[in-house]
Amino acid sequence: MHLAREIEGHNYNYYVLDNPVVSDEEYDHLMARLTLLEADHPEYRPVNSPTTRIGAKVPSGVKTVRHSVSMLSLDNTYSIDELKEWQARVTDALDGRQPDDVVELKIDGVSCSLVYVNGRLTSAATRGNGEEGEDVTHHVRAMRSVPLELRPVKGVAIPSLLEVRGEVYMDRRDFELFNRARQEAGDDVFANPRNSASGALKLLDPAESAKRKLRFFAHSFGRIEGGLVLLSHWDFLTAARSFGLAVNSYSRLCVTFDDVVAACGEFQALRSTLPFDVDGAVVKVNSFADQRLLGETMKSPRWAVAYKFPAFQATTVVNDIVVQVGRTGVLTPVAELEPVACNGVMVARATLHNFDELERLGVSKGDRVLLERAGDVIPKIVKVVERSAERIVVRKVPTDCPSCREDFICVDEGMVAFRCVNPECPRQLERRIVHFASRDAMDIEGLGDSAAAGLVDQGLVRSIADIFSLSADGLLSLGSFGPKKADNLIKAVSESRSRGLSRLVFGLGIPNVGIKASRLLARRFGTMDSLMGASLETLQDVPGMGEVSSKALIRFFTRPETCRLVERLREAGLVMEETETAAKTSLSGKTFVFTGELVKYTRGSASALVRALGAEVGAGVTRETDFVVAGPAAGSKLKKAIDLGIRILSEAEFEEMVNGQ
Ligand SMILES: [Zn+2]
Repeated sequence: MHLAREIEGHNYNYYVLDNPVVSDEEYDHLMARLTLLEADHPEYRPVNSPTTRIGAKVPSGVKTVRHSVSMLSLDNTYSIDELKEWQARVTDALDGRQPDDVVELKIDGVSCSLVYVNGRLTSAATRGNGEEGEDVTHHVRAMRSVPLELRPVKGVAIPSLLEVRGEVYMDRRDFELFNRARQEAGDDVFANPRNSASGALKLLDPAESAKRKLRFFAHSFGRIEGGLVLLSHWDFLTAARSFGLAVNSYSRLCVTFDDVVAACGEFQALRSTLPFDVDGAVVKVNSFADQRLLGETMKSPRWAVAYKFPAFQATTVVNDIVVQVGRTGVLTPVAELEPVACNGVMVARATLHNFDELERLGVSKGDRVLLERAGDVIPKIVKVVERSAERIVVRKVPTDCPSCREDFICVDEGMVAFRCVNPECPRQLERRIVHFASRDAMDIEGLGDSAAAGLVDQGLVRSIADIFSLSADGLLSLGSFGPKKADNLIKAVSESRSRGLSRLVFGLGIPNVGIKASRLLARRFGTMDSLMGASLETLQDVPGMGEVSSKALIRFFTRPETCRLVERLREAGLVMEETETAAKTSLSGKTFVFTGELVKYTRGSASALVRALGAEVGAGVTRETDFVVAGPAAGSKLKKAIDLGIRILSEAEFEEMVNGQ
């Protein structure tokens, strides 16, 4: 079909040529049109239509794939001197002749191998241990930067077999957006794009991994059979690009060693401006004849080497290791450091994440440690570089809470976390107050870190509800409040009573329930009582509420101290209803029907979203249906909708409509 080719052509322009000619919206429209056409004429659907990119979930776990040619790793060099030594060994082995080299960027991603048989993508696997990797075909098919079929090149036969190798990675921008969305949903964030990419390839559902917008760069091959004769690596890169595979444009053909050094220097200087993470350059001998002469060791080829860029690192001394108590009682070890500049920022603290990590690093007070900070990522301790003479061995896990000294410590289910479960723990209360008063929650100005600490330490506030009975005299007695400041806080507290249910729910700090989920919960249930009485099934119906967060929410609301708190807040006059009601939306009373597969939503979450906006979800298409949302593989419902002249929405249009509410 012409349209299918046009869409793949746009993918090629975007990912391979880096020169998009249509906007994302136009692209989505083309996809929606193709979906409609194919639903009408399934007989014309091409085997590798772009609508087939995201397939069904993988029913069982990972499948192991044996590589037909081992995927070797590269030896590393860490300085120009070491690189020079490598070049000298190569020249020696070639009887004094210095070969041409190709220098490429070393993308910090997940190495994968893609197999094309007669030009069609048939399978894909991760590098794994080099001999065996994991089957990731369904994820790689979903990546728009990977052609499902190689582009024909005039005068060049498509090889009967091409096993191409490269890196699956995530753009930094996509990574940041993805992490922000996770944070808003109350989920854990990923430390860096590579972790997120590698985690995506382990998921069972390609629609889920597609959300991370994985990309692929080809950099080498395992096997080429039939139809293509290549003499050098440079030829390979050129051929790969013309077949429609994305090849990183930062590749340089170098004749002298000085050119190699210059290319490495150029790439290193560009490093922080690139849209993706790189950790070095790769230098490869260009001619395949020379590569064969040089051969390989058991582990790595002799004709290629990695030149690792110096990381954004610094060393400093650990002044202390303290345990922080969060608002949910989670205890986190934190290293307090002798302040040091690292990648342009002064670093004085570094989280150790959890006690397993603390033990793994074996770090203790007085040690000199190596710090690393890449991009905007939080600094982390890589390793201990020098043990302190008088080591103070840190207990693996504290036996009591550093704030309340209660022995109430328990391992959190399924996590490597420890938690103080004392409901009256002062430090937890302090963090909960700060969260309750934060801008996205009850927005109480003047109730930040220091005010909260003062109120808790002086015993003026023993529960969040006490905030609403603060008096000017009480505040003045703290010493840190003058008359004006005290007045302002009392006014701000009073105003916050009418913020409404969604902000209140978020402010309560329920584990795994972020701002977005709080809003949807408030819209769905309308009142605090109705939310507190909700069943597991109805909760799971709300977008963004999985089984874990739904159970956590029920646990939270059945705790006696939560019930007491809610009662006291009610007595204090807080509005326990949603102020922005669903009835106000322009979609109320409308009926939606879903057909085909959705990428960003499950059928359940899309339906719940519609209901939250006061609209209905119909099972079948009738004259009463207002909108039909059609995804890939839409069937008879779509046809009926067309016949009845009902408005058809692509998933993107649906999302836009819903977000506009
Ligand atoms: Zn405690």
